[in-house]
Amino acid sequence: MRRMASALAVLNKEVVICTQCPRLVAYREQVGRERRRAYRECEYWARPVPGFGDPQARVLVLGLAPGAHGSNRTGRPFTGDASGKFMYPILHKVGFASQANAECRDDGLKLVDCYITAAVRCAPPDNKPLPSELANCAPFLDRELRILKNVKVVVALGKIGFDAYLNYLKRNDILRSKAGYAFAHAARYSVPNGITLLASYHPSNQNTATGKLSAAMFEAVFREAKKSAVSGP
Ligand code: SF4
Repeated sequence: MRRMASALAVLNKEVVICTQCPRLVAYREQVGRERRRAYRECEYWARPVPGFGDPQARVLVLGLAPGAHGSNRTGRPFTGDASGKFMYPILHKVGFASQANAECRDDGLKLVDCYITAAVRCAPPDNKPLPSELANCAPFLDRELRILKNVKVVVALGKIGFDAYLNYLKRNDILRSKAGYAFAHAARYSVPNGITLLASYHPSNQNTATGKLSAAMFEAVFREAKKSAVSGP
């Protein structure tokens, strides 16, 4: 446990000072300088956002990227924005989070048997990272997945998170082809490394406000994740 936690701490120290993607460095800092009116008094994090959670987690949540005024402001995944307001109460209900609210890094929230990370660790304009930015950030995901040895289930939020995991499998010669792995909400795959891959629509405001993703649909994915973490693929 301690070894995993310290390996993650070393990794995350490197993540937070990364400047490999000039476009994203410029954007994350610009957002932090200009600030949304509601957060004018807040000091924005405006750096890469490291993964967060239980180093012994059996369930990994793989998202897209920090939100410009969410985790790019608070420094913790899905914290301080609409996506987190939708997601954390469900994680809490299912037993993966110690509390339902996630406002800031020191709000006391702890994840239980769950770790949250993202395909890209800097906020991209319009939530759209470039392929080159996904490629730059991929080695951080590879290292994270090597450290998180207890992971049995990956919950991919959105197609970019889903593809990021399939690309990880390909890079590491675990998967030859992505054919046969189609993204769909609640899709479930057993991948050759023994992991259960679950797909979910991303809990973005765009999906939740329009009803494309309901709380019941999202909860069902995490209940399935819990079951699969215990029973295996
Ligand atoms: S997206 Fe990833 S690789 Fe690019 S600057 Fe941010 S942390 Fe570095």
